[in-house]
Amino acid sequence: MSDHVRYLGVLGPPSADAADGVQAACERLQDEGLLGEVSPGAAPGHGRAAAIAPGPRVLQAAPELSGLTRNGVELYPSPFMNVGALMSEGLTCPRCGLAVGPDHDRRGEIVDLLGSAADAERFDDGAALCPACEGASGVNDWVRGEAFILASCGLALWNWPRLPQIDAALCAALADAIPGRPLRWGAWRI
Ligand SMILES: [Zn+2]
Repeated sequence: MSDHVRYLGVLGPPSADAADGVQAACERLQDEGLLGEVSPGAAPGHGRAAAIAPGPRVLQAAPELSGLTRNGVELYPSPFMNVGALMSEGLTCPRCGLAVGPDHDRRGEIVDLLGSAADAERFDDGAALCPACEGASGVNDWVRGEAFILASCGLALWNWPRLPQIDAALCAALADAIPGRPLRWGAWRI
């Protein structure tokens, strides 16, 4: 079985209190039984991201997680990229409507452009210059709906199914710890 990961990203440029906010959200979620202890094997861990085991309430709601090696949550205290959104078929220029499907002849160029801007942590509205219309936009403006390419901090949930009550609690913990910032879900199947 392949792994899938669901991201909950805090959008907008990084804020000075992001790392403390993610830690505070984690502690609250541990108190609520949604997260367990630090568990390095529960998620791949990408350098600065700490991996946390699922808590008892999550294992009760999704018992299938107990049998998986990767079932934890990564905490991202600083900017991270959702490669799944970058590789999606839904890239569209917000200025001219250029739709960059899988067979588009400029797809490689545009994925490279957006990936480079995200990698450089460019959160500004001029980060992505469309090669077709030369209009400037933000990296996340190229994806719609439940997707983002670049977040300033957030969570990655390894193999967690959609669980409305638990998803709402995760959002509430992040929103309270890092107030006034939009949250957006994203996903990637690996
Ligand atoms: Zn364009």
